[in-house]
Amino acid sequence: MTKKELVSEVIKRLKKEYPDTGCSLEYSDAWKLLVSVRLAAQCTDERVNIVVRDLYDKFPDIDALADADVNDIEKIVRPCGLGKSKAKDIKACMSMLRDEYGYRVPDTMDDLLRLPGVGRKSANLILGDVYGKPAIVTDTHCIRLCNRIGLVKDEYDPAKVEKALWKIVPPEEGNNLCHRFVDHGRKVCSARKDPDCENCCLSDICKYKP
Ligand code: SF4
Repeated sequence: MTKKELVSEVIKRLKKEYPDTGCSLEYSDAWKLLVSVRLAAQCTDERVNIVVRDLYDKFPDIDALADADVNDIEKIVRPCGLGKSKAKDIKACMSMLRDEYGYRVPDTMDDLLRLPGVGRKSANLILGDVYGKPAIVTDTHCIRLCNRIGLVKDEYDPAKVEKALWKIVPPEEGNNLCHRFVDHGRKVCSARKDPDCENCCLSDICKYKP
């Protein structure tokens, strides 16, 4: 089986297993997803979803966050960890959205990468989830599963895994495939305990050997 054939089979099976996949960060506006992805670094999506409620109670829009005292943002986002740098990035990011992008979250990789605190992973998430553009989000689940399944070999650098996946994944499938890697990583192919290969829909094609 070539890697293209392997990924095509993985896509087919994971679609069946997780038909209603999607981003587990809750948001109602594109700029709120930017805030949430910054907070999600080294934090669970569940915790981020709780913390942002308090954040938007106090700072309900882009202007409010751009004009906020960074210490006041930090007090609220502290439970997500890395509070100081996240608060600084959120304020700077909202300021740039207002002052340079007319309150609109940009829809190109280059423009997104100019925003403070936004890396390729976050930019891809915005492109895929907000704008429906081809995107590959190489988060920890994606990287672990790609190595275990055999889509990449001993490659843990997010940018390199992304590059490898672009070569074999049909562009229109990338975004939801990555969401399904998260679903499967949480439910079956865990990082914290042994993967549950006996109950995995990929067991006969996966290269993982314990
Ligand atoms: S067979 Fe095992 S290692 Fe491979 S994807 Fe499934 S749970 Fe993960």
